[in-house]
Amino acid sequence: MSEIVISNLHAGIDGKEILMGVDLTVKQGEIHALMGPNGTGKSTLAYILMGHPKYEVTQGEVYFKGRNILDLEPDERSRLGLFLAFQYPVAIPGVSVANFLRTAINSRRKAENPDDKGITIPEFRAMLKERMDLLKMDHVFAGRYLNEGFSGGEKKRAEILQMAALQPEIAILDETDSGLDIDALRIVSDGVNTLRSESLGVLVITHYQRILNYIKPEFVHIMLGGRIVESGGPELALTLEKQGYDWLREREPISS
Ligand code: ADP
Ligand code: MG
Repeated sequence: MSEIVISNLHAGIDGKEILMGVDLTVKQGEIHALMGPNGTGKSTLAYILMGHPKYEVTQGEVYFKGRNILDLEPDERSRLGLFLAFQYPVAIPGVSVANFLRTAINSRRKAENPDDKGITIPEFRAMLKERMDLLKMDHVFAGRYLNEGFSGGEKKRAEILQMAALQPEIAILDETDSGLDIDALRIVSDGVNTLRSESLGVLVITHYQRILNYIKPEFVHIMLGGRIVESGGPELALTLEKQGYDWLREREPISS
């Protein structure tokens, strides 16, 4: 059973501390939502888990499959079975969605076994078709250049398709706070719900309470001032919907 264990994580940028002791564990088969108002460090946490070089970890650990991953490169983290969706995915003109996915799958196979000859084209096509059908995606999508001219919703679709094709054990999805319209929200939610399984653990990061009407997480966490100040089950989402974050701000005066 894989799990990602974040303990007492402190991190920042240019000497400014943003995360002030984050503790969180996500196991395969579980869906967690990380909520919180803007500017509380949610994306910072996602970037650090992804291995973004611009952030500095000053204290704490992140273990995945029993390994401290903070020293690993992003691609090594991915090969271990972590999937980290980019909040602002880059466009790769000239590389189709299908080619991108095949390259990603092959590099992962090669890392596991240097003699691996890669997935055959018929095998890859069949897998991609099956995954796209599962996500109710038009097959034309696979032939388009990755993220080039994609709408916000299409970028989300491409992310979910990557997740479906790479079959990670733990996926971390940071949703853009700006530009996340209700359609994009639905795409992500439907995708997560479709891919939901015993072998996939998901951390959905969002400030958008409405996502909880679409994805039913088993665990809800609230971040305020760089720390998780409250965790609970789905009932916490209902409390948030009714009361917002003010009750937590009052309880945690130093947090913001
Ligand atoms: P959230 O995703 O919860 O909205 P962020 O992680 O994006 O929050 O930001 C947390 C805090 O860190 C904010 O105060 C933000 O201004 C600051 N921050 C994030 N990235 C940078 C950066 N590159 N340089 C300086 N401050 C940053
Ligand atoms: Mg953010």
